[in-house]
Amino acid sequence: MAVADKGAVAGYSPRSVVLLGPPGSGKGTQAEILARDLGVPAISTGDMLREAVEEGSELGRKVEGIMATGDLVDDATMARVVRERLAKPDAAAGFLLDGYPRTVPQAEVLEEILGGHPQAVILVDVPEEELVRRALGRQRADDTEEVIRERLRVYGNKTAPLVGYYRDRGLLRTVDGHRSIPEVSTAITRVLRG
Ligand code: ADP
Repeated sequence: MAVADKGAVAGYSPRSVVLLGPPGSGKGTQAEILARDLGVPAISTGDMLREAVEEGSELGRKVEGIMATGDLVDDATMARVVRERLAKPDAAAGFLLDGYPRTVPQAEVLEEILGGHPQAVILVDVPEEELVRRALGRQRADDTEEVIRERLRVYGNKTAPLVGYYRDRGLLRTVDGHRSIPEVSTAITRVLRG
């Protein structure tokens, strides 16, 4: 299985793009727009997990509680979810990852799956006070302020180290996310064409 997964994706790693950014940075919106423009799927691990919760599948039942607190699902579970998703035929021509990796061990798993680094990592950069403002504005019924703050804290502790990780490897491209949606899309497209 692992070998087949590798084969399915390795040849296409030049079109593997990771979108990195804090909760509320708008990376999910950008992933959808870019996916349309590039003709590759936007793979959002958050959406996949929420669907699993809605379906009440075994995975959904496992992650429901942890997601509700704003903390991260464990790396081993996420490795399985992402490995399976990237092995699907629609990912063979390339893909955008939104929400994965979120920890350094997840970045290492991704390298193993791809047989190398992703083509590019785009950091959608937004100042913290703007993130809090946006988060409180779009607050879902199940998102208390406490959970929102926990997500930001978890981002700072576990995901922000990926910025340095990818910068050290020469893969990081930073885009100013504190602008209109089309302006951010244009900036990302420009960076990818580089
Ligand atoms: P956000 O609202 O921050 O954009 P997502 O929709 O990407 O968040 O994800 C929602 C939740 O799903 C996260 O808070 C976390 O519990 C879980 N999750 C999503 N992706 C991952 C991942 N790569 N590793 C661990 N947990 C994840």
